[in-house]
Amino acid sequence: MPHRNIRKPSIGRRVAVAGVLFAFAIVVVIVTALVLSALGEVSHNVNALDDQRSLETTTGALKTFQNQLAATLNDYAAWDDAADHAYSPDGSEWLINNYGDMTVNSELFDTAVLIDSERHILLAYHNGSPVNWTLTDYFGDGLADMIARVEGMSVGAVPEASGFVKTRDGIAATGVALVRNKNGLLSSADGERRYLIFARHLTPEKVDGLAQTYVLNGLSLLPADSPAAFFVNIVNPRGTVLGMLTWHSQMPGDVSLRDVKPRILTAVGLIGLFLLALLIIGTAALRKLKADEALARHELLQDRLTGLHNRPGLFLGLNERLEQSQGDDSYVNLIYLDLDGFKEVNDSFGHGAGDLLIKGVAAALKVMVPKNALLARLGGDEFAIALKGNDARIAGRKLCEDLLALFSEPFMIGERVAAIGCSIGTAVSKAGDIDGEELLRRADMAMYEAKENGRGRFMAYEPYMDTRREEKNQLEADLKYAIEHDEISVVFQPVVNTLTRRISGVEALARWNRAGYGPVSPDVFIAAAESSGLIDQLGLAVLQKACHAATEWPHVKLAVNVSPVQFRNPFFAAQVLSILEEHDIPPARVMLEMTEGYFIHHPERAGTAIEKLKQIGVSIALDDFGSGFASIGYLRRFGFNRMKIDKSLVVALDEGGRSLEMLTATVALARSLGIPVTAEGIETEDQAAILQLCGCDELQGYLFAKPMPADQVTTMLAQQETPVRQLKVS
Ligand code: C2E
Ligand code: CA
Ligand code: CA
Repeated sequence: MPHRNIRKPSIGRRVAVAGVLFAFAIVVVIVTALVLSALGEVSHNVNALDDQRSLETTTGALKTFQNQLAATLNDYAAWDDAADHAYSPDGSEWLINNYGDMTVNSELFDTAVLIDSERHILLAYHNGSPVNWTLTDYFGDGLADMIARVEGMSVGAVPEASGFVKTRDGIAATGVALVRNKNGLLSSADGERRYLIFARHLTPEKVDGLAQTYVLNGLSLLPADSPAAFFVNIVNPRGTVLGMLTWHSQMPGDVSLRDVKPRILTAVGLIGLFLLALLIIGTAALRKLKADEALARHELLQDRLTGLHNRPGLFLGLNERLEQSQGDDSYVNLIYLDLDGFKEVNDSFGHGAGDLLIKGVAAALKVMVPKNALLARLGGDEFAIALKGNDARIAGRKLCEDLLALFSEPFMIGERVAAIGCSIGTAVSKAGDIDGEELLRRADMAMYEAKENGRGRFMAYEPYMDTRREEKNQLEADLKYAIEHDEISVVFQPVVNTLTRRISGVEALARWNRAGYGPVSPDVFIAAAESSGLIDQLGLAVLQKACHAATEWPHVKLAVNVSPVQFRNPFFAAQVLSILEEHDIPPARVMLEMTEGYFIHHPERAGTAIEKLKQIGVSIALDDFGSGFASIGYLRRFGFNRMKIDKSLVVALDEGGRSLEMLTATVALARSLGIPVTAEGIETEDQAAILQLCGCDELQGYLFAKPMPADQVTTMLAQQETPVRQLKVS
């Protein structure tokens, strides 16, 4: 039988769980990092895009600021009225009204200057007031280039120029335009030129206005080369940086990231929690499964009725102990216990009572065996106990004695009392030198020997037991073969009438000449047939042969031995009747001899069986009276037709003592019950004389005849006229 070691839930599992948890943590961290870095990138890109937009917007705003001025200048310079008044000596008022006064609170320009070809200032206004400065004073050198450019323009080009210059009041979009008619021509013909100069300063208010219009955060005007992350340079037509517009990056990506980050982290956290919950649930489910499995295994190793270990459970524990004993050089003692008479309890009280008895025995054993011992039920009525230790042999012996003492008392099964015994076999292993299976086999063998030796005892395994068992097996095999091949023969021992000494009957006795061994004593092979279940077949074969022979001697009674085992067969009476009818033998001629054993142990069933046999008309003799425990009471109870006194009582006569009185009393008692008595084993005339005096009406023994083949019986009967004594067969 294969036995697997059952492992306890190991450290390995915990390590695995920790590993999975760790992997989960890593996955969650990596996912979080990936998501955050992706978001970071998106936010960075969004920031960059926004910065780019701000740059373009600011550049555009500056350009628009300059273009606006240029467009205004164009409106005011290319104007027929202006062309009239600018060149007229009395145009001053018009010019003040339309140019000078317009510089106040104007969205379009804050400075207006009119100059002539010599660049003399004819009119200069700033914020609605006339001012008194020179062009270079006020505009620095930034304006001169523009004026020069307009002056030098070819015919057909628009005589205007614009750009940023730095004035005393700050940076301003500035433009220069030739004052002319709308159609581009001048009114005067003398070649005089008037140039109109407009400027509009980037005042803080204007910068704020731009910031609002273009949605530029923190837009401000700073001197050139100020430290700033985001800026657009304001450059004059010569390419000189005059200043810079700077702004704060709005970092919309960062803002969004700040917005979504908690949500992302929450989501990742939730996923992490979900996975963790999944892991926890999974682990719990796994643990439950393992527990279920362990329980199932435990049940697999347990006997259902008693809760003790079963056979696999025993082997598991036994092998563990053997392994340990190998380590510490100790003994393992296996005690194998089989109940005697359990089958009978089962048969007569029923299986329910049988189960109760087994439970009771199990409970008693639990109390008796030491705590660290292994206790198992191997099925049916067999139990095993394994003890381990340096004193396992002595402790085992003591336990066996206690067990026998326990079984010497009757067991209570509910209201009923059952007398059961037990037979015990033990086997020992030292330092694990014998494996579990072999140990159990040896203990079983020893138990079997204990049963063979009369039950109710314990025996320790000895190697000879193996040999004996083997021999017995071989004997049984040969006997089976012999029965099946009609090799069992029958001899007949005459029984004589005490007074006449003539043959009144014969007893059929089985004989077996075992091939290769010679004759085997019936005491041996009958017992073997009984224990191996061959007795029914053998008994009927003997009856068959005896009846066949007896047809030759119609006036002689025929006695046939019946084994108690045959009584259990419910068809026995019917089978006997059928054989008698087959040979036309009247049942009244036939006597079945039975030994006492069955009557003592199973009085009820024996009574029933005898009744059945009596009904078919055969008579029944109690054989071997005086060899066992049968008392005269049995004779009356079962209504035996005859009693046969065992030869041991006859032999005892020679030894003197009180045996004669006992014999006399026994026969007298039987006779007083109306039961005739036969004396067996008569070998001497003295014995014959005494038993005749005692009152035995029939005698049997070597003195008269030994068991003989049927034809010799025929011969003897033919010579009946002469006294039997002289016909004695040697
Ligand atoms: P048993 O029924 O008591 O048979 C009488 C035994 O005593 C026979 O031994 C017989 O040979 C022996 N015997 C007879 N007279 C004398 C004598 O004067 N001195 C001595 N020493 N022995 C004498 P056997 O044939 O060896 O049979 C032994 C037992 O085997 C029988 O005892 C009987 O119980 C059993 N047996 C024999 N044949 C059968 C059978 O066919 N069926 C069953 N069930 N049992 C049988
Ligand atoms: Ca007999
Ligand atoms: Ca006998």
